[in-house]
Amino acid sequence: LTVFVPNESGAGEPRVAASPDTVKRMVALGLDVVVETGAGRDSRITDEEFSKGGAAIGTSSDASKADIVLKVRRPREAELKSFKKGGVVIATMDPYGHEAAVAAMGKAGVTAFAMEFMPRITRAQSMDVLSSQANLAGYQAVIDAAAAYDRAFPMMMTAAGTVPAAKIFVMGAGVAGLQAIATARRLGAVVTATDVRAAAGEQVASLGAKFIMTDALKDASGEGGYARELTEDEKKSQSALVADHIAKQDIVITTALIPGRPAPRLVSADMVKSMRPGSVIVDLAVERGGNVEGAVAGKVVTTDNDVRIIGHFNVPGRIAASASLLYARNLYAFLETLIDKQNKSLAINRDDELVKATLLTHGGEVVHPNFASAPV
Ligand code: NAD
Repeated sequence: LTVFVPNESGAGEPRVAASPDTVKRMVALGLDVVVETGAGRDSRITDEEFSKGGAAIGTSSDASKADIVLKVRRPREAELKSFKKGGVVIATMDPYGHEAAVAAMGKAGVTAFAMEFMPRITRAQSMDVLSSQANLAGYQAVIDAAAAYDRAFPMMMTAAGTVPAAKIFVMGAGVAGLQAIATARRLGAVVTATDVRAAAGEQVASLGAKFIMTDALKDASGEGGYARELTEDEKKSQSALVADHIAKQDIVITTALIPGRPAPRLVSADMVKSMRPGSVIVDLAVERGGNVEGAVAGKVVTTDNDVRIIGHFNVPGRIAASASLLYARNLYAFLETLIDKQNKSLAINRDDELVKATLLTHGGEVVHPNFASAPV
């Protein structure tokens, strides 16, 4: 079986779906691995390092010979044409809102797995790309905020006077938010955080931050440990609490998401206006519609009152070397479950809950229940 790992930097993706470590593991499984030249460059992995791991270095034309393609992003139509019919593609597929692209993968006859649909069960923890990438995004959000903030984070008492500690408010205390809190605390900021899941309160407190939640909102935990959308009354009560608090903050980092829905709007233009000049907002949900009014995906917006709203695309890609290492390990852990080690062949068990949850297209059709009947 041949595995191909393309170079995605031409498509603006600095991450790569394999590392020298995972190449070694794949070779040990009996797979032949071909890595496209330059695939690791933006993640600081050289072709030589991939070769040392046991990979052959190839070109994009090697995709046509591969039984398995490992990717960061969903394959584009042009790429699909070069893939083998019946070949496997494993990537983050971003399928919602891109039903036509899902249908195209079906039509191309590839067996496509969407890593972001991996169930959050113990067995699949090592395959959880959402967590590995969100964790780094949470860290990077604080680094981006610190770089844009013209003041220090920690309180500094010096002979020349005292620099006050930065006040940071993290909205959404899931994987990304908790890492943002931990990172901001390490840098010496005074951190508060909010979430709509009551369980998040304890986790926030354990990181040394103060949890803020309205009395009116008891708990909005939904299915699978995710948040549900708030009712109009709950939204109003959250907004009233947040409005007062934000006006006193130097930095706001928002990470709130609701599965399968646009990101909830948490920070209004009036709240942004209430912040002091020089304040910084990082909206990690900007690609899903944004938590902050006025945030623009791919841009840093400076408001009239001199607040910067940072809306970078692909935040894990801003810390690509680390993100690729973890992403590659996530993919390898899943790939291993699809290989029959004795016969060195593909063994896709359609009854396995991991396969059931992630398989998008197979045998020329869209098979995932959420997309099978979607209009194209
Ligand atoms: P997510 O990316 O879907 O959302 C980020 C956070 O935003 C969540 O904490 C959510 O509650 C919060 N949020 C949603 N609406 C909000 C609002 N209106 N105001 C404030 N906050 C809001 O979440 P995630 O980071 O993927 O984590 C979701 C859950 O899954 C958590 O309970 C986490 O601990 C759990 N988890 C479990 C596993 C596992 O068991 N393997 C792995 C990762 C995460």
